Amino acid sequence: MYPWLSATFTQLAQRKQDNKLHHALLLQGSQGIGKSDFAKQFAALLLCSKNVQGQRCGVCHACLLQDAGNHPDFHEVISEKQIGVDQIREAIKKLSGSAQLSGTKVLVIYAAHTMTESSSNALLKTLEEPTANTFLMLLTHKSERLLPTILSRCERIIMPVPDTTQTQVWLSTQWDKPVDAEFVNLYASSPLILLDELQQEHKVSYEVFKAGLQDIIQQRVNPSQLAADWQEQVEKILKWLQFWLHLQVKRQSELPEALWQLHQQAIKAVKRVRNPGVNKVLVLNQLLTDISMLKSKP
Ligand SMILES: [Zn+2]
Repeated sequence: MYPWLSATFTQLAQRKQDNKLHHALLLQGSQGIGKSDFAKQFAALLLCSKNVQGQRCGVCHACLLQDAGNHPDFHEVISEKQIGVDQIREAIKKLSGSAQLSGTKVLVIYAAHTMTESSSNALLKTLEEPTANTFLMLLTHKSERLLPTILSRCERIIMPVPDTTQTQVWLSTQWDKPVDAEFVNLYASSPLILLDELQQEHKVSYEVFKAGLQDIIQQRVNPSQLAADWQEQVEKILKWLQFWLHLQVKRQSELPEALWQLHQQAIKAVKRVRNPGVNKVLVLNQLLTDISMLKSKP
């Protein structure tokens, strides 16, 4: 278990042992902290037929099936964009039958805030009156989008976010190459996204990004060239720009107006590209062009 989540895991495991676990848990927390892994591991614990002292045994039939991804009483609802009512109905149907193994059934709904209104309504009865030995885990990083009726029927578990030191320590066990300290700070509260960014070598790295900015400030590269090079990842690059400008602003004892303006512009740009139909490369190009003029300004 991720170190920053282990205390929560232990607490829930203890409550299960004491038969005090709520049947519907809402695991709420930001993206990239490991909620999905947490839910899967906790499900494995719930399903294990011989778990002792809050640990799954790892060798019973249920554990072996779970490890192989074949446990018949473990169900998941996964969706890229939206969870439709049919997905929920199908999941409820699976839960309504009797368990095939030890008696416990688990349903995990990832990104639960993407449930439509009818999906949410379809789930209400199960949340209220679940079949015996049934546990539901709803995961979300946007709980404000969940219907109040869903929220009121779940016990909310706030998943802890690691601090920078925890992220650094964990990262050192996952990644043996040097990492830019700024980059660790940028993703300190989303360690899994941080690691994912590092592993995707074909993408623009933070080092390349920073070097690119120096190139345009020193007039070695045309901003539009850079915008074109980064066109596949405009949204991410804009977030990085916002963060980078934030750092530049923080480092100045006397803040030049131009820099402050640029930071504000970056914040707006990050929001703007979320709208459909916006020419993202153009937004990026404009911001890079303005950054390229930083040096010439007093
Ligand atoms: Zn087991």
